[in-house]
Amino acid sequence: MPATSPFTSHDLDTLAVCPRRLWLERNIQAETTQAAFVGHPERDPILHAALAENPEGQRICNGPDLQAAVNETNRHLAHTNHRPLFNACFVAAGPANAAAKDPAPRITVTADILLPAGEDSWILVEVLPALRIRERSLERVAHKVWVLERCGLEIAGTIIRTINPEFVLERPGEYRGLFSDHHVLGRVRHLVNEVPGILETAQAVVKDPEPELPLGPHCTNPAPCRFLPHCTTRAPGPQWPVTILPDGGWKKWKRKGYDDLLALDEQEMKPREAMIVAATRSGRPFHDLEGAREAIGQWTYPRAWIDFEAASPALPRWIGTQPFQQVPFQFSLHLEQADGSISNHEYLCCDGSDPRKGCAQALVAAVPANATLIAYNAGFERSVLRRLARDVPDYAEPMLSMAERTVDLQPVARNCWYHPAQRGSWSIKAILPSVADLDYDRLEIKGGAMAQDRFLEAIDPSTPRERRQEIEEALRAYCRQDTWAMILLARRLTAAG
Ligand code: SF4
Repeated sequence: MPATSPFTSHDLDTLAVCPRRLWLERNIQAETTQAAFVGHPERDPILHAALAENPEGQRICNGPDLQAAVNETNRHLAHTNHRPLFNACFVAAGPANAAAKDPAPRITVTADILLPAGEDSWILVEVLPALRIRERSLERVAHKVWVLERCGLEIAGTIIRTINPEFVLERPGEYRGLFSDHHVLGRVRHLVNEVPGILETAQAVVKDPEPELPLGPHCTNPAPCRFLPHCTTRAPGPQWPVTILPDGGWKKWKRKGYDDLLALDEQEMKPREAMIVAATRSGRPFHDLEGAREAIGQWTYPRAWIDFEAASPALPRWIGTQPFQQVPFQFSLHLEQADGSISNHEYLCCDGSDPRKGCAQALVAAVPANATLIAYNAGFERSVLRRLARDVPDYAEPMLSMAERTVDLQPVARNCWYHPAQRGSWSIKAILPSVADLDYDRLEIKGGAMAQDRFLEAIDPSTPRERRQEIEEALRAYCRQDTWAMILLARRLTAAG
């Protein structure tokens, strides 16, 4: 995104989290950065459901051409008979910094819905694909109110429309009752006044050299920042910071003033943390071979190494489902026999139909009745199987039986293996490079969240057939790698050397 293009609500959100990330997105990253909901795979279906409640509404087609969307919005505001507007697009300029001779910073926002509230006033509705309102959502609404008022609209109210968790889809396309409205103008008024100052700060951050800011929890939480490799190589501080200690174990040492993991005394630490320090100090992996052999040796053959991918869309798609309900749409299974032979079995449903019954049928066909199912972080797989038992009653018994027979490879890895390159994580993606020549960077889909986004893209009726096929291939490659990776990990854990 060119540094001179107008700021978006997303930019101001980013500024609040990390000014350096804003600088990188505006100055380095060529790829367009979208707002958290604009560009969200569920944006269109959810807005469509919201639109159904106001069938007389007018939708603005805001494509990539910002000026065209603003012009179209202005045309509708000037000529329509005060009808609801969807996706109306506005641009406003903030105060110019005369001393620095900078042009006034501009900001563009998209109003999800504008409802007429009288002759000359409007109610701004922000549709949030979430169950709760967070502070960030209020700030985002404040940005919009500030821009709309600057553009001359009178805002009589603001509503945040969240998802009602009690909703159950009973008829196709019938979403009445899906949303809960929260009137928030009183809560955002004071935030509106802060917008000019925030815009000035954003402009200064983008114009100045890249800020040198330390890494912190905001770099990985709630999701890893895509600039992490860039910042890690430039970060001031130790190569092995105490923050790699898992489960919040680092906080205690930070409070005591420690930054460097290698400065810690293993004698004063819990066994797992002491093991991490020892492995990091020596550069050699920790490996409890006997422990791994004992744990894995108890798993009888045939072994069904299994991994599910599930979608939990805010907008329920299938009869009987609720918002954010986990619906499995794919599994990969490597079936390993006692003689060492392995076969791969898969299920994937990307045609938009309800995938649950097909998934249960495919499981029954692929998993022998005496198989041990093995998953990584198996709580998820067990919960998917139990949910399938409820949702597909004809297959309840085999699903419950499989849930009972599912064991977990992750605790074995946590107890028996640690390589310094894991940097405190036992996710399969963190552990894999140290045990096998496999990585996820070569795959188009690199994680579960991405798999879910691609699935939602694939089932969207507007997605071309060729793109759907590409997504299917990418999903198959990703899920297959997850189960193959488990086999390689188990082999490494039980091999000497
Ligand atoms: S890795 Fe951390 S410091 Fe770097 S841009 Fe991302 S959030 Fe900011």
